[in-house]
Amino acid sequence: MQKITLIPGDGIGPAIVDAAVRVIEAAGVKVEWDKQLAGMAAVDACNNPLPDATLASIRANRLCLKGPLTTPVGGGYRSVNVTLRQEFKLYANVRPAISFEGTDTAFSNVNLVTVRENTEGLYAGIEHFITEDGYKIAAESVAVVTRKGCERIVEYAFDYAKRTGRKKVTLVHKANILKCTSGLFLEIGREIAPRYPDIEFNDVIVDACAMKLVMNPGAFDVMVTTNLFGDIISDLASGLIGGLGLTAGANIGADAAIFEAVHGSAPDIAHMGIANPIAMIMAGVMMLEHMGELDAARKIEQAVRDVVREGTHVTPDLKPGSAVGTQAMADELVRRV
Ligand code: NAD
Repeated sequence: MQKITLIPGDGIGPAIVDAAVRVIEAAGVKVEWDKQLAGMAAVDACNNPLPDATLASIRANRLCLKGPLTTPVGGGYRSVNVTLRQEFKLYANVRPAISFEGTDTAFSNVNLVTVRENTEGLYAGIEHFITEDGYKIAAESVAVVTRKGCERIVEYAFDYAKRTGRKKVTLVHKANILKCTSGLFLEIGREIAPRYPDIEFNDVIVDACAMKLVMNPGAFDVMVTTNLFGDIISDLASGLIGGLGLTAGANIGADAAIFEAVHGSAPDIAHMGIANPIAMIMAGVMMLEHMGELDAARKIEQAVRDVVREGTHVTPDLKPGSAVGTQAMADELVRRV
């Protein structure tokens, strides 16, 4: 039986993770959940936001379904998400944005996937202030882009497109200005693209990409880009389909894969029982696809899409005034899968 590390997380995390577990089990997937702590729950339990036992569990199982974690302000803790990315070399952040019928959005034809390089670029963590007499006069951040990093993320994007029947990969860059970092990324993209003759390849400058996305998102299929651009573009894409409550992401690496909702721990609605569980359930769908449990993944996704379209069993973020809570929405999905 497949063993999976399960991190309930903070705030709304435990409620939506519980909903995802119930729906996955109802779809008939046999899983042994290895429950571990991280984030504030772990700080409360053992004064460490990422205990060794959690790391050991992910290392052994290589698969993790993770609830959102509150990043403590102050206290000197490093972001758990950043540590996990580095520890398990989670180099590909994969975020599909596919329109849900029944949501109030400008476009109904969005069907795209952002593949973001997750470990390098401007988020490599090399930055410092330059001070004079204790006064900050400047700040510098160094973007690191390696040939190996570019090759593995571009190859991942093309392989993903091939595996999922997608037709086009668009490389998003700023090579006209950032001639070295973005330039190398584009150069390597152009080297690799001919190896995938069945997949169309083009490139677009990031600012033009943002404009085109909000004018004609249907023109995009798979987008591959560096860390900072991917962070922004993937949130833009989430907004196109109705926001963070619906969007999931996978962090894929050489040593493990971690699946999560895109949103945070939503402290403003924690313990109110009204959190939308869909993003977390869709993270579960991505995990099932990764495991090759394609029938269960399709069944769950179909149930989610039906429930959102019908609108009778959805949480208040999707239908203001709705009295349906997290668990009632999960109950309806359990009934349907
Ligand atoms: P958030 O995503 O938690 O919340 C933003 C808004 O969206 C809030 O109004 C919230 O109520 C709403 N919202 C989010 N998820 C929802 C859901 N499932 N159903 C209904 N409404 C939902 O962002 P934030 O408030 O900026 O962050 C809160 C905490 O989460 C912070 O500590 C932040 O660092 C952390 N965070 C963690 C992750 C992660 O673990 N992957 C991601 C983002 C933020």
